[in-house]
Amino acid sequence: MHRDTLILNAGCHPTKDPGPMVPGPQFAATYVTPGDPAAHALTYGRFENPTWSMWEEGLSVLEGGPAVSFASGMAAVSALLGVCLKPGDVVVLPSDSYYAVRILASTWLKAIGVQVRLAPTRGNAQARMLDGARLLWLETPSNPQLDVCDIAELAAAAHAAGALVAVDNTTATGYLQQPLALGADYVVASDTKAVAGHADLVLGHVATADPARLAALRDWRGRHGAIPGPMETWLAHRSLATLPLRLNCQCASAERLAAFLASHPGVEAVYYPGLPAHPGHTIAKKQMRAFGSVVSFDLSNRERAETFLRALTLVREATSFGGVHSTAERRARWGGDAIGEGFIRFSVGCEAVDDILGDVEGGLNAASA
Ligand code: PLP
Repeated sequence: MHRDTLILNAGCHPTKDPGPMVPGPQFAATYVTPGDPAAHALTYGRFENPTWSMWEEGLSVLEGGPAVSFASGMAAVSALLGVCLKPGDVVVLPSDSYYAVRILASTWLKAIGVQVRLAPTRGNAQARMLDGARLLWLETPSNPQLDVCDIAELAAAAHAAGALVAVDNTTATGYLQQPLALGADYVVASDTKAVAGHADLVLGHVATADPARLAALRDWRGRHGAIPGPMETWLAHRSLATLPLRLNCQCASAERLAAFLASHPGVEAVYYPGLPAHPGHTIAKKQMRAFGSVVSFDLSNRERAETFLRALTLVREATSFGGVHSTAERRARWGGDAIGEGFIRFSVGCEAVDDILGDVEGGLNAASA
């Protein structure tokens, strides 16, 4: 069966069984559990929930390996770092990763004696940092600069050095890229972005093929209480059915936008792995099904970037990415990334592409006036 069809049906009710095709969310803190709790599949809302289980089945199809859902992408990131690392261990992070992951490492992980090494995503530079490492953390394409590294090559190098490999798959999603099949031990993602895709909830997950590692993640979630809400997981599961539909549209429009920006004299630089001139294009073509819904570009300085954003009438100025509505922001307003003051991160939505291009053209005209 086609992958889009499998994702559409992932975690849903079997086709021949009577009952609702899409059961509603189950809200429960306490389950009736007479006698030995081990005799019951459902005991307490921090440990199990049937709505999570259906959502996790869906995620497992998406990622190609069993998944555990968390309350947010950062809850998933924290759980994964927590189960892998102990004092004295070395973690190799991308120096251009999502900045909150680097902050978490340089504050809380360092404080418990974990050594943090940083190297850029571009050029597989993290491969040179693996000596004695316990965990190699990749993020490709990286957020917000959209640099790319070779997952299969880095996973092989990490395993040869005795390190585990985790890939933050948020910008690509499991629909466009499957790190477990490329040799990673773990894949982690924020489902707040394209997977849920409607800018209305916060969720995350980790997937791993190893049953003991999966059990450790479930145990971490139950003990730390970083659990997803049943309503959020139900909504996200509904969204999963349309992920291929949405992303195919968004990626096609993102390619058009990137090409348009690359040809515009008012744009200093465009960062999109789908452009043949992008330094990671060949790798991205090899390991991704399409190049993603985020396009970053540089408008030289803060004033031009702010003028551009103010002039947009369709595209909203907002953080995050992957939703059905196009958004854009001047990324340097948050700090934490080695980018210029005029750097824009643009998330391409599902609007008609000509409307997106028209709005961007109007913004660029205003910024160039
Ligand atoms: N990883 C990446 C690459 C992200 O972009 C984000 C959020 O922007 C996260 C992790 C954290 O996800 P959340 O905001 O759902 O906690």
